[in-house]
Amino acid sequence: MTELELRDLRKTFSARGRPSVDAVRGIDLTLRSGELLGLLGPSGCGKSTTLRMIAGLETVTGGDILVGGSSVISRPAQRRNIGVAFENYALYPPLTVAENLAFGLKARKKADRGDVDRKVKDIAERVDLTAILDARPAGLSSGQKQRVSLARALIREPDVLLLDEPLSHLDAAQRDTTRRELKRIQRDLGHTTILVTHDQEEALSLADRIAVMKDGVIQQLGTPYEIYDSPANVFVADFVGEPAVNLLPGTVTDDGHARLSETARIALPVRVPAGREVIVGIRPEDVHLTGDDGLPARVVAHEPLLEAGIATLALDGVESPLVVLTDPEVRLAHDDRVRVTPDPDLTHVFDAETGDSLR
Ligand code: ADP
Repeated sequence: MTELELRDLRKTFSARGRPSVDAVRGIDLTLRSGELLGLLGPSGCGKSTTLRMIAGLETVTGGDILVGGSSVISRPAQRRNIGVAFENYALYPPLTVAENLAFGLKARKKADRGDVDRKVKDIAERVDLTAILDARPAGLSSGQKQRVSLARALIREPDVLLLDEPLSHLDAAQRDTTRRELKRIQRDLGHTTILVTHDQEEALSLADRIAVMKDGVIQQLGTPYEIYDSPANVFVADFVGEPAVNLLPGTVTDDGHARLSETARIALPVRVPAGREVIVGIRPEDVHLTGDDGLPARVVAHEPLLEAGIATLALDGVESPLVVLTDPEVRLAHDDRVRVTPDPDLTHVFDAETGDSLR
């Protein structure tokens, strides 16, 4: 059981003749022992660079990495006792699954044969690979390859486990099973884990806490609920949630509403000074189709789906569309007139200039 701490961790890539890239710009994070932290952000935001610095596969420009309270930045990768399961599996094709698992142990030190066999058997049972120990990587499904890659990271009994986009190559069905498996294994073995992903669903469903990253900076750190319910800024609100949050520009009125147009006003959950330019964030599931009152709108499109339909509406006088989830029994046609009421308690308000939450 080991804590992992990142202190003002930085990475600048400089190559001669090219502008330097500040890939990671001062990350502070403390993972509790046994915690699974999701590092979530769009492509290019610095997730892999962070992971590679922790693993010792990339040098550090500034800051420190502490495992169990001791700095590891001056240690080479093989002396950090950090297990990494890569997105592309990185399995050796000529070797069987058992040999792939044993390889990590043997490469590390002269290991006793009986001991290696025992460890391979043990980890294979935990990760459900016993039946395929004699198979070679080419004959395995993506889900199986993913489990071998995970088992190979785990067999060294690492202090910290790093998972790089673990589910990204799996199809939808495999992803669900593998996600559950991954959670069970991580809980059982209790490794302090960082899971890097650009997939919000993966982060929301697996992680104890999520760090949302953009341009090398952590935008928000919190539990999945905190991230979803109280996004710190427009970027986090927009990045987390499917369908995406509606972001509507407006001006705050004297009576504490956001005026989106001559006719459209939305009640705000907090007091914001009148005249302030804001962006109102409304999640598609937090809008109700109402009877006589509510904001008038026109139906642009409606996809009735099994669990919930998705309606795209045009609020009168408002340019940005409003996407709304509808109950399964609701039927709407193009150009239908409706009225909608966003749930005031679940409405988000951001400063239009900084993008920061005003809640
Ligand atoms: P992510 O994993 O979130 O997609 P990366 O950590 O791979 O992001 O990349 C962060 C930024 O650093 C990107 O702008 C990327 O182009 C840049 N970068 C990554 N590796 C290198 C490298 N070896 N040399 C120069 N720039 C790099």
